[in-house]
Amino acid sequence: TAARQAMRVMGWQFVLGETIESALSRASSMEGKGYRHSYDMLGEGARTAADAEKYFAAYAHAIERIGKAATGTLPNRAGISVKLSALHPRYEAVNHAAVMRELTPRLLDLARRAKAHDLSFTVDAEEADRLELSLDVFAAVLADPSLAGWDGFGLAVQAYQKRAIEVIDWIGRLAEAHDRKLMVRLVKGAYWDTEIKRAQERGLADYPLFTRKAATDLSYLACARRLLQLRPLIYPQFAGHNAFSLAQVREMARENWTSADPGFEFQKLHGMGDALHRTLVEEDGYPCRIYAPVGGHRDLLAYLVRRLLENGANSSFVAKVGDTGVPVAALIVPPEVELGHGAKPRHGRIPLPCALYGAARKNSAGLEFGWSHERDALLSAIAEHRGTTYEAAPILDGKGRPGTARPVISPVDGRTVVGTVTEATPTQATEAIDRAAAAFPAWDRTPIEVRAAALEATADALEANRERLMALLAAEAGKTLPDGLAEVREAADFCRYYAAEVREHFGEGRILTGPTGEENRFVLRGRGVFVCISPWNFPLAIFLGQVAAALVAGNAVVAKPAEQTPLVAAFAVTLLHAAGIPKGVLQFVPGDGAIGAVLTGDARVGGVAFTGSTEVARIINRTLAAKDGPIVPLIAETGGINAMVVDATALPEQVADDVVMSAFRSAGQRCSALRLLFVQEDVAERMSEMIAGAASTLRLGDPHLAVTDVGPVIDLEAKDKLDAHVAAARSAKRVIWEGAVPGGDFAGGTWVAPTIIRLDRPESLDREVFGPVLHVVTWKAEKLDEVIAAIRATGYGLTLGIHSRIDATIRRIIERLPVGNVYVNRNMIGAVVGVQPFGGSGLSGTGPKAGGPDYLARFALEQTVSTNTAAAGGNASLIAMGDE
Ligand code: FAD
Ligand code: NAD
Repeated sequence: TAARQAMRVMGWQFVLGETIESALSRASSMEGKGYRHSYDMLGEGARTAADAEKYFAAYAHAIERIGKAATGTLPNRAGISVKLSALHPRYEAVNHAAVMRELTPRLLDLARRAKAHDLSFTVDAEEADRLELSLDVFAAVLADPSLAGWDGFGLAVQAYQKRAIEVIDWIGRLAEAHDRKLMVRLVKGAYWDTEIKRAQERGLADYPLFTRKAATDLSYLACARRLLQLRPLIYPQFAGHNAFSLAQVREMARENWTSADPGFEFQKLHGMGDALHRTLVEEDGYPCRIYAPVGGHRDLLAYLVRRLLENGANSSFVAKVGDTGVPVAALIVPPEVELGHGAKPRHGRIPLPCALYGAARKNSAGLEFGWSHERDALLSAIAEHRGTTYEAAPILDGKGRPGTARPVISPVDGRTVVGTVTEATPTQATEAIDRAAAAFPAWDRTPIEVRAAALEATADALEANRERLMALLAAEAGKTLPDGLAEVREAADFCRYYAAEVREHFGEGRILTGPTGEENRFVLRGRGVFVCISPWNFPLAIFLGQVAAALVAGNAVVAKPAEQTPLVAAFAVTLLHAAGIPKGVLQFVPGDGAIGAVLTGDARVGGVAFTGSTEVARIINRTLAAKDGPIVPLIAETGGINAMVVDATALPEQVADDVVMSAFRSAGQRCSALRLLFVQEDVAERMSEMIAGAASTLRLGDPHLAVTDVGPVIDLEAKDKLDAHVAAARSAKRVIWEGAVPGGDFAGGTWVAPTIIRLDRPESLDREVFGPVLHVVTWKAEKLDEVIAAIRATGYGLTLGIHSRIDATIRRIIERLPVGNVYVNRNMIGAVVGVQPFGGSGLSGTGPKAGGPDYLARFALEQTVSTNTAAAGGNASLIAMGDE
């Protein structure tokens, strides 16, 4: 009851009304006193086509009501603000063509309605990666002749963006070109924290926005000056609650302006900055517009959290004013002076994304698909590399006889030849072990710095060949560009992480504490020949991760890639060799399971690193156990029946994003992918609708294109298995939603449509279904423990997702399930090396986790060297210690 009451109080404070009607009636008391309103429909962005229609209808309805009210009690220039993300479920830069085709007419339609009532109509500013797209949409709508003669159209510009000034200049040119007056709302920007996180996650070269508050404040002033200069072509709207920023704008506005009408207005949010804006309106006579959120309780949370942050964050002006500990003088330090204090343009505690991991290692470089210059450069490089063919063959040293080459056919269309592979014969596999065994001792004695440097050079080479690798991953494994990029980054991260780890833990070793007169040194060194066997689903990152760890720990390696993806593995091997790994030390042995069996069965093998299915891991385990001689380590990373638990407190939009991403991206062919979704019964219908609606927006098709979300499954065998599984569910009438597969040029590819299957009992899913198939079960609120028991009963323990806002629920689930990687209120794929060490328990693997702090040690032999330092006759260092 108390929480509900608190929500109501905060809702009343920060939200004008639950409906546009109630908001209008509340607003009317403020009108005519120098205030006007711009109404904003609260809500998360659209995730489904139905959402987008709903938001469109809500905006259209609001425009009608505001328009009607305007002719009655409100002055003419009441207005509305729209979020483009509400009008299209895939308002993303990579989706440029569809957004221009589908969203632009919707915005134009709303703009015409606003024009008909002579309202003001502003496009809100959203995330930085959508900036260019938003400008394209804006320009297209503006150009429409039906809007001629109307000066109520405008958009918001965020001063925290480094591009803000350029955006304003661009708007000025646009207004001039169309000979139309435009409104520009200048804000500092509402997504600063999210943007910083996103840039770090994406490994961007730099932040698209300022990292020091004073820089944003200064940018705000610079933008304000430019906007004021553009009067009357531009009608500036200075939004904010920072008294100092607005006072500076007010002073600036007076320069060179003689007209009685100031030609601009101030803006504030409903419930914020009342006293400040009262002064501006009542004492100075400036017009002020109140941005008035409208929405029901369900849509409040995100907005209220933003307001609480603004009122509480100690970088915020409002919070500083409220804090009696902050002297007034500290509130009015001009930003250029403040910036000078730090002497650094960038925040001292916000490292560049590439420097996220400090001195130990570089973060892998990513790119922003939202920026046209980066995206266009990538796409043209991909197009250039497309069609290049590759070869994979065992290293023969001129001895063995080459086998027969077979073509590697792309799963994308079932036709394109990506290259040729010559698989190793069993004899060649054995010879590879001979050569590796011969090369091992020298490699084990090679200084760790040399080994670490070779991995770092490999990481650099991976990044230098990024586009080529992404094109190859798309062709050979059907990987989409974001998946390909993520994979190249992961491979580079593995190399740099293991290089950093080996420096820290290997080499001279550790001196252990013990009695005086003796030195006890604990060292890690190579075990011998390691066999590394990898799956096709991460043909670069997993292949290279295993190999890099084994090598840098001092082992010689015989690497066998999956038979479906030898080409990308062969390419990785050439990079490793070129980076300084001796040819003998790394042997490449393409081949199928039979070749894998030859390798693991060899008596000389010092250890096996395997990633793949649980069944094959068992076979390898038995093979190793059946050998006489030393018992060697097996590091096995295997499959999972990965579950996500969603309770009634979860945010449906976030759940939809994360479920669709976790279950269907990468065509569900990640070992971490979501297979079994448990949704609390009370919210199941709405959640399922939203998930299916969001999944319907996925585009299957050519993975070489940025617009594609989902590629094919790896081969016909995988497709047949998945098709049979879905067919069985279909005949049992359990399929609740099914997507469509591409035809035309791609008809010959191995496609499986994303599918959602309803289950009555979770036990019905008794094996890993490795593709874009999601199984959904509902659960009753009081039966959480049964859900936990069902997940435990699968016997697997790889990944687990939890969506809940109740800490006790989250804790309860985590405590009771020994799952390797748990993801709370986020998607459950894409573990980052060194940040989210990856690997499961139970049927999902032996550990230690790949990309984790204990991984390298498992590849090493431990040695303790105890030296009697007093053997020469005395303990010199003890005697030299003297008296204290
Ligand atoms: P201040 O306290 O002076 O500034 C806070 C702002 O500084 C933060 O919001 C952030 O942008 C910036 N900041 C904080 N820390 C740092 C740092 N370390 N480095 C760099 N910058 C930092 N926002 C949108 O994004 N889109 C919109 O369409 C939008 N519409 C708005 C409409 C109105 C009428 C108003 C009043 C605000 C709107 N906002 C919008 C929100 C706005 O961007 C600000 O978040 C909010 O107004 C706080 O800014 P301030 O100048 O009032 O306060
Ligand atoms: P798979 O087990 O069929 O094959 C994996 C590798 O083992 C291939 O290189 C294959 O040639 C080889 N192999 C097959 N039989 C062998 C034998 N008898 N002896 C030695 N080697 C043999 O798996 P896959 O289809 O390539 O990959 C998909 C599986 O991998 C899924 O189960 C997935 O969950 C799992 N996987 C797990 C992780 C993880 O980190 N836990 C990561 C990726 C994939």
